[in-house]
Amino acid sequence: ASFQTHIQSSHPTFQAAKAPSWNVTDKSKLVQEVLRMVNDNRRNPYSKVLRTGSATRGIVGDAYNDEEQEAVIWTTNLYLGLNRDQNVIEEASIALSRFGTGMGTSAAASGMTNQHLEFETEFADLVGKPSACLFPTGYTANVGAIAGLLGKNDVIVIDQLCHASIVDGARLSGATIRTFQHNNASDLITVLESEVSPYRTILVVLEGVYSMGEGAAPVAEIVHTAKKYNALVLVDEAHSFGFYGEGGAGICAAQGVTKDVDFIMTTLSKALGSIGGVVAASQEHIDLLKSSSRAYIFQASISPADMAAALTALRRLRSDDALRERLWNTTRYMRQRFEDAGYDLGTGDGPIVTPHFSDKDKLFAIVQGLFKRGVQTSAVTYPIVESGRGRLRLICSAAHTKEDVDRTLEALIEAEREVDEQLKVTLDETR
Ligand code: PMP
Repeated sequence: ASFQTHIQSSHPTFQAAKAPSWNVTDKSKLVQEVLRMVNDNRRNPYSKVLRTGSATRGIVGDAYNDEEQEAVIWTTNLYLGLNRDQNVIEEASIALSRFGTGMGTSAAASGMTNQHLEFETEFADLVGKPSACLFPTGYTANVGAIAGLLGKNDVIVIDQLCHASIVDGARLSGATIRTFQHNNASDLITVLESEVSPYRTILVVLEGVYSMGEGAAPVAEIVHTAKKYNALVLVDEAHSFGFYGEGGAGICAAQGVTKDVDFIMTTLSKALGSIGGVVAASQEHIDLLKSSSRAYIFQASISPADMAAALTALRRLRSDDALRERLWNTTRYMRQRFEDAGYDLGTGDGPIVTPHFSDKDKLFAIVQGLFKRGVQTSAVTYPIVESGRGRLRLICSAAHTKEDVDRTLEALIEAEREVDEQLKVTLDETR
């Protein structure tokens, strides 16, 4: 309770707060919590906006008032920093003046430029598949692909930590949904043993790297297991495409299982620094998706400037190993410095660095303390980690510097010390 008081008191007043008159009796706990927050004049802690700057450093403001803070930013997934690459920006500007701002229709209904086509061809080629299909976002790529492929006579078997877009695609498909324990091939066997017979198609879905601070998933093991049961496999490479495997082709390439994976999916919003989603597969599967996926057919396609940005970024990341090297050097440096300072980072080795905390309320206070010191971070809590615990999440990019890492570690040590002292004072007062 003391931490809650502390957190509440450090929230400036929610400016135009008025309790909306919804009937929440049948709504989830989350909705009720949001309403309580509004009623208490507490501000949404995620109401940050970037006033100027880039993905890694800028002036971060508040959506509800004039407060702002110069900050090192660790909350975006712009792994290679290509959103600020000069060539990417120039190509996007050229497309903007050539085609204007929006395509105005779906890819299926002629909403494509040559660059959309070139992206599909070059992405498919890089990840080692014959063809690919673009979607307006990574979220709709998963929803569109899964719901476009499966129906009510099928079964989808997903890793229990898979992203919401995979779960939502599975729900929308009407297929039977089963989950297997995170990264656990023998649990997958148990599920597949019990599920194979009554269904027409089995689709196993997993991610190459999960976004909560782990390293590469055991993709080869899971894929080989799935194949023994003749399942189709989709691997979401949102957090691995661009910086694992040769030319940044991803985890499937790095673990030598491209041929066994039927669908390789990624987003254009992370390593590629733009917006969009893409699925690569056999020509037959892509033809099927382009004529069955409602997210593909009934949704406007990626804007010309965003497409040109993604295409230029794709060409750049494919040919520039130094970019990947920079990301990995910063990642290794950050992990080393934080471990030397005594932080438990778990078993991960990837660019998402997550110091573990045993008390989530303390972690939330630290996130605020860090922001006050010019470091923007986020927290990972239940159900990703055990209830009550938490992880600070710092997403490295090739655009971060060693100085950013040093400044962040220093701020973390100070913020944690301050929170510990406050806790001590509160405990002394209540004694
Ligand atoms: N899959 C995974 C694993 C993700 O983490 C995300 C985004 N957080 C998505 C899909 C959706 O991508 P986008 O945000 O580009 O729509």
